[in-house]
Amino acid sequence: MATMRVAAAPEVSPMKVAQISKPGGDFEIVEREIPDPAAGQVRIKVQACGVCHSDVLTKQGLWPGIQYPRVPGHEVAGVIDALGAGVSAWKPGQRVGVGWHGGHDNTCRSCRRGDFKNCENFKIPGITFDGGYQQYMVAPVEALAPIPDTLSDVEAAPLLCAGITTYNSLRHSGALPGDVVAIQGVGGLGHLGIQFANKFGYKVVAIGRGPENAALATKLGASAYIDSAATSAAEGLQKLGGAKVILATAPSSKAMSALIDGLGPNGKLIVIGAAFDPIEVTPIQLISGSRSIQGWAAGTAADSEDTLRFAELSGVRPMVETFPLERAGEAFARMMSGEAQFRVVIKM
Ligand SMILES: [Zn+2]
Ligand SMILES: [Zn+2]
Repeated sequence: MATMRVAAAPEVSPMKVAQISKPGGDFEIVEREIPDPAAGQVRIKVQACGVCHSDVLTKQGLWPGIQYPRVPGHEVAGVIDALGAGVSAWKPGQRVGVGWHGGHDNTCRSCRRGDFKNCENFKIPGITFDGGYQQYMVAPVEALAPIPDTLSDVEAAPLLCAGITTYNSLRHSGALPGDVVAIQGVGGLGHLGIQFANKFGYKVVAIGRGPENAALATKLGASAYIDSAATSAAEGLQKLGGAKVILATAPSSKAMSALIDGLGPNGKLIVIGAAFDPIEVTPIQLISGSRSIQGWAAGTAADSEDTLRFAELSGVRPMVETFPLERAGEAFARMMSGEAQFRVVIKM
């Protein structure tokens, strides 16, 4: 009698994730079960995830109350591959992005006023729940932005934090076409900020340390470049009439403090480079010329959608270096070195 062979049930193959298991710990590549989406969530097959400076909050345990192990990553581009209960507005196969805004509760006072960005129970991918340094992640529907067909996953990923933060802060800055807008830092944030500012019709002044990024800044749309290592950027901006807006992207409070005198009347320093030490400013500096300083965090998923559509429309694109998931630790170190040209992206 012939031997009967019974086909084994197909094995559910686990997925690979790059996790941090304690504050200051190294990246560990481990296998986990592919997660199922709960009600109001989708599962995303991750195609690319940007490596952002804020991932240091997860790596070093700098976010109050963060739980470990944790998978970082809040610049996620992928494809919906399963829907949780009650999800009707999204479909499997749809390309979506998830950024810094990982969801809101819809019930707190900020949410009741429509100010979802400042939700009291705001969630952040890679901090509050596992982010995009893994093959599959789950995310609530409030965090999803559709990705236009003409943007690749690797192009879309950095636009979901670095892109939205520069685009959204500039479009709400009050600067009008023709105004002098300075972008401090020609790096991961700054190289996108210069492009957006140019497409918004501003007179763009790029500020970098050293002469090496001058040609690139011009190519990206700056009409002037100030080398702040060789000359006073504040004086340079005053020669141009003073800046309506200075977008401070490099996480150096000292460099930001030195720029305040470059603001024109009613000028505003917008802070998006996240540093922990204080910016120094005297009341007199702010009172004379009615100048202000404002911080800005990314924006909602709807703002992400606007960012991606505007990038599609205008041709704004990030410059990236890619690494495979298995080399997440190296990708993070490359980003932290400040040498990357300009955003680091993990490509699955
Ligand atoms: Zn970020
Ligand atoms: Zn809320």
